[in-house]
Amino acid sequence: MRIAIPRETQPGENRVPITPDVAKKLVRMGADLHVESGMGTTSGFTDEQYTEVGASIAADRSELFANADMLLRLNKPTAEEIALMKRGAIHISYLDPFNEHALVNAFKDAGITAISMEMIPRTTRSQKMDALSSQANLAGYVMVMKAAAALPRIFPMMMTPAGTLKPANVFVIGAGVAGLQAIATAKRLGAKVTAFDTRPVVAEQVQSLGAKFLEIDLGETGETAGGYAKELTPEQVEMQRQAQKDVIAKSDVVITTAQVFGRKPPVLVTKDMVDGMMPGSVIVDMAAETGGNVEGSVPGETVDCDGVTLIGTGNWASDVARDASQMYSSNLFNLVEDNWSEEQKAFEVDFEDDILPGCIITHGGEITNETIKNIIE
Ligand code: NAD
Repeated sequence: MRIAIPRETQPGENRVPITPDVAKKLVRMGADLHVESGMGTTSGFTDEQYTEVGASIAADRSELFANADMLLRLNKPTAEEIALMKRGAIHISYLDPFNEHALVNAFKDAGITAISMEMIPRTTRSQKMDALSSQANLAGYVMVMKAAAALPRIFPMMMTPAGTLKPANVFVIGAGVAGLQAIATAKRLGAKVTAFDTRPVVAEQVQSLGAKFLEIDLGETGETAGGYAKELTPEQVEMQRQAQKDVIAKSDVVITTAQVFGRKPPVLVTKDMVDGMMPGSVIVDMAAETGGNVEGSVPGETVDCDGVTLIGTGNWASDVARDASQMYSSNLFNLVEDNWSEEQKAFEVDFEDDILPGCIITHGGEITNETIKNIIE
């Protein structure tokens, strides 16, 4: 099977989909691997590192797309790129299928098997393929680093002959994969951390990291069978906002990571809450690019909101591109290896598999994913 790895072209993207280590494993499995020249550069990998492990370097991007049986990437393709691809080819990347309806239809019409990395089920067996988790974990770390760099204070308590500095107060809203890593990172730096999540099971995880869990009685909340938070009613969102107000006012840093799978993130920090914070305080809104948990956060930017720094720069994992590439590449490899036929030396699309059908969006000229089909058609 001919596998192509094109260069990522999305502005600000420093991660690469396949590292030389993983390229070596794909070649060993019998893949005919073609890497676009310069593909690894943003994460510090050279063309030579890929040729050394048996990959070919492609100078012509259009040919790379046109001859590929499978493409492994990070970001979604353009319409022009889809038009270049062979009918029956497999394309694996992030796709944002809940919002990218035109893209899904283009894949369908082109007869491409489109696999979405976001849609990999959150089961125990699929953890090794779970790119949402691997990248969110790094995002949690990066958000704290950014907050610490922007805050005109230090995180730990410091007792010195010149006096005692109190530890910084950090409040983390949403304690999923990113939030828990943000809590752990802020704790390692010595901050006093409080956190809240609507899924009650999270309280124990937060406490085991040495942070305080803010108890808010919102009535019925819970999680879906897939482990995701259920969407709150507008009344519950308002109750949450009121209950968090005091903690936010006393926080030096607020980090928001609240998401509801397949929906717009809830606005949990309103403008008056931002105004209630001390000048110099910092808010990091992980959801800025998908609508925002914080009123006034700007996707892709850091803004000054009357003395409070609001960071919404997004693509957090790209800031630690080398590690993020290693993890994403490993997720991709595990997905490919799990569906690889030794005899055919090819990726087999098996609709009886327990993982694959959930993340295939289009196949054979149809939208095969029922959830996405119901939204689009
Ligand atoms: P996510 O990115 O969808 O959401 C982030 C967090 O925001 C979640 O913890 C969610 O409960 C929380 N949230 C939603 N609305 C909120 C609100 N109004 N206020 C505060 N918090 C709010 O979630 P995620 O980090 O991708 O993972 C969610 C969960 O999925 C995990 O914690 C875990 O239970 C499960 N999971 C399972 C596996 C696995 O078994 N393979 C892997 C990863 C995650």
